[in-house]
Amino acid sequence: MKLPVYLDYAATTPVDPRVAEAIMGCLTLDGNFANPASRSHLFGWQAEEAVEDARNKVAELINADPRGIVWTSGATESDNLAIKGLIEHYGPSKGRHIITSAYEHKAVLDTCEYLEQHGCRVTYLKPDSRGLISSAMVSDALASDTVLVSLMHVNNEVGTINNISEIGSLCKEKEVFFHVDAAQSAGKIELDVEAMNIDLLSISAHKFYGPKGIGVLYARRSPRVMVDAQIHGGGHERGMRSGTLPTHQIVGIGLAAELAKAEMKSESARIKELMQKFWSGVCNIPGIHLNGDHQQRVPGIINLGFEGLDGETLLMALKDLAISTGSACTSASLEPSFVLKAMGVSSALAHSSLRISMGRFTTEDEVEFAVKTIKETVSRLQSGLQKNNGSMS
Ligand SMILES: *Cc1c(COP(=O)(O)O)cnc(C)c1O
Repeated sequence: MKLPVYLDYAATTPVDPRVAEAIMGCLTLDGNFANPASRSHLFGWQAEEAVEDARNKVAELINADPRGIVWTSGATESDNLAIKGLIEHYGPSKGRHIITSAYEHKAVLDTCEYLEQHGCRVTYLKPDSRGLISSAMVSDALASDTVLVSLMHVNNEVGTINNISEIGSLCKEKEVFFHVDAAQSAGKIELDVEAMNIDLLSISAHKFYGPKGIGVLYARRSPRVMVDAQIHGGGHERGMRSGTLPTHQIVGIGLAAELAKAEMKSESARIKELMQKFWSGVCNIPGIHLNGDHQQRVPGIINLGFEGLDGETLLMALKDLAISTGSACTSASLEPSFVLKAMGVSSALAHSSLRISMGRFTTEDEVEFAVKTIKETVSRLQSGLQKNNGSMS
């Protein structure tokens, strides 16, 4: 087994070798390298065909009209384009109130904070202690000038799944636009923009075995939902997002979406089994806490608190496991996770928490190794603490 063991799939996934091969086929002169916007030669036409084929594949993954798929650089850009683009397009006439939650990804939170400085009002819903946002919470926060509800499908730190269908129905009934950050759910669990009444949806290839630097914003076609471009240029992507399309990355996300759809059932069953094995191996560790709902969660992400221990110290001691204390984006700061704090987890427990996330290439051996390593390390650190306490008294 190669050490450290990679258990940080929620931060990013490795590219599937089949996807990597398809990407390689779109780089060199003898491959599909051309500018898909080149209309005057065969090279351009072939690139365009590959891009449109990928558009159909991504659309199928989320049951969308392919004409609603806009290529972006990732979910961060998609979130920005969805939220700022919508507010800019509809402006004050449709209201200036946004409802989101306090445990969104920073791409949504920072965008909302930016809009607050530009005349919007934002309500940040507090998730319940299970790490869930309910449609009742959204309903209570609706105001006469609410224009947009922006919520994540699956939380990236705890893995809990929000009831997007129910919230989508509510938004439709109240005629409020609904944006969903689906970076952690796309390709992992069922996602259907029609059945769930989603108007705008953000996804990112590198969370489901595609390359980094490519994502999608889906914008509903019927009834049409408009967003104003945030990147201006050649008018690509029906004016919503300019810039030469990266054929290789788009082919990558297309195949990644196709594979994810085809293998979703078997893969999620396999990961669920691995996670159950992992949890049953560690659940008896004294002082362990599972953060977030025990049932309503994706199989690949688990967030654990270890009473009395410090997450950073634990992480250091667990150097054979590539894991994190929370999201990659905030792991540079020593503050406890804002996600756990929003869920009402005590500051001490939040400080002691780790996220472990598995995926397509995680093996049973790796899970067994992780269980053994965590058990031994926690026990060693806990007995160290007891000795220290003993010597001090
Ligand atoms: C990873 C992630 C993002 C950011 O996606 P990028 O493609 O890396 O910009 C946004 N939201 C959630 C929930 C994520 O997990």
